[in-house]
Amino acid sequence: MKHFDLLVIGGGSGGVRAARMAAMSGAKVALVEANKLGGTCVNVGCIPKKLYSYAAHYSADFADSAGYGWQVGDIRFDWATLRERKTGELARLNGIYHNLLDKAGVEIIHGWASLLDATHVQVGQQVFSAQHILLATGGRPKQPSFSGQELTLSSDQIFDLPALPNKLLILGAGYIGVEFAGIFAGLGVDTCISWRNALPLRGFDQDLRQRFASEAAKHLTLLPNTTVTSIKSLENSQLEVTFNEGTQLLVDAVLSALGREPVITGLGLEHTKIQLSPTGTVVVNEHYQTYEPSIYAIGDLVGRMALTPVALAEAMIVVDQLFGNGHRSKLRYELIPTAIFSHPNLATVGMTEEQARTVSTDVAIYETDFKHLRHTLSGRNERTYMKVVVDAQSDKVLGMHMMGADAGEVIQGFATAMQCSLTKAQLDATIGIHPTAAEEFVTLRTRSR
Ligand code: FAD
Repeated sequence: MKHFDLLVIGGGSGGVRAARMAAMSGAKVALVEANKLGGTCVNVGCIPKKLYSYAAHYSADFADSAGYGWQVGDIRFDWATLRERKTGELARLNGIYHNLLDKAGVEIIHGWASLLDATHVQVGQQVFSAQHILLATGGRPKQPSFSGQELTLSSDQIFDLPALPNKLLILGAGYIGVEFAGIFAGLGVDTCISWRNALPLRGFDQDLRQRFASEAAKHLTLLPNTTVTSIKSLENSQLEVTFNEGTQLLVDAVLSALGREPVITGLGLEHTKIQLSPTGTVVVNEHYQTYEPSIYAIGDLVGRMALTPVALAEAMIVVDQLFGNGHRSKLRYELIPTAIFSHPNLATVGMTEEQARTVSTDVAIYETDFKHLRHTLSGRNERTYMKVVVDAQSDKVLGMHMMGADAGEVIQGFATAMQCSLTKAQLDATIGIHPTAAEEFVTLRTRSR
């Protein structure tokens, strides 16, 4: 029986990083992957989503160019070209992941891994033993439970549709729902989005949510406060969607984006002391160690923050503990920036105003809402919004939020400043780069409490 120092289950963002780093530090490492290397992010997440988001933005760019004197003429979009070029790029990335692991000396095992006990893993007919096991099996889309749910598509399937639908309904206005809404509307699909609450993007800053809803209403049909109760397929292959209050909608396709759940079924957890949280995530301590001391877990499976850079950082911490000097600092989850590649983009770091008010009795808000210079000539009626949440007593910046072009690119830099305990006075002392949208963050004067 082959024995490893570390056996990683799952070759996604976290698993690949952990396996590679552990092998590079001299450990004997195997990685088991049931599907394609790169996991969710590379194959059905961040990368294809961002490529499609770029594709979708061209429609606005073509339209906006007229205000700058361009005459573009007839424009047409070919879905098959985009889909196939995306598939080619993902195959290239799968190959890169394979080479990186190979060069680091990781043994790549293809198949479904199942735990036999605290130190043994079965893949097909083979059994392996390992001193340490790392679970990085990620998440998958949650299935809705209404009648006709089998007629919905998940985000895993939507990238490879044979043809674009004329009319699409998206269920759920979390970040995945609003991103796909922006993508398909940009590609010319009549797109509706239905969700349970009054505002989209639960958990984000209330002002950002409100402003995003007003912008989104310019290119999407918004159906807030709605829940689907059933979907029926009609003879003409359209789908008849019925909502809780009895109204109906005819569409060509329904994308369900109602959240994700950890991949635990068939993993053999019952043969170990591993415990699960009420939401099904694997419970770990601050060292990412499960209740079974030889088994660690990271990434979406643990569910602290379902983002690729978080899975990567958690992987580095585990490897440092097991095979390094253990000096790598803990992750500060409260300062992890995140972007939503919706139309317009959103990005945020730190606390929402609502969260800030639970920890500070003196919160000062600085905000601005303006038309981007670019749209003075393009004529596009799109607003840019920025908000800084400050603890007025200490002057410390608690949160920064933006809606507007390239919001993620802007917030990334400010996230570093927040790691260094950024204050409002330091923002004020920073000289802006003119003319940019980002300079507004360092010239905010108006204050409300
Ligand atoms: P995954 O990347 O999901 O990898 C898990 C791997 O384990 C999979 O390859 C799976 O096949 C394999 N596996 C599972 N069980 C077994 C088993 N028993 N045996 C063998 N193999 C197994 N994050 C961002 O930071 N930015 C974004 O813009 C972004 N966009 C996203 C868009 C979408 C549509 C989705 C769905 C996700 C997006 N994410 C984004 C989230 C990001 O993809 C995940 O947080 C990240 O991939 C988590 O990495 P992971 O290593 O935990 O798991």
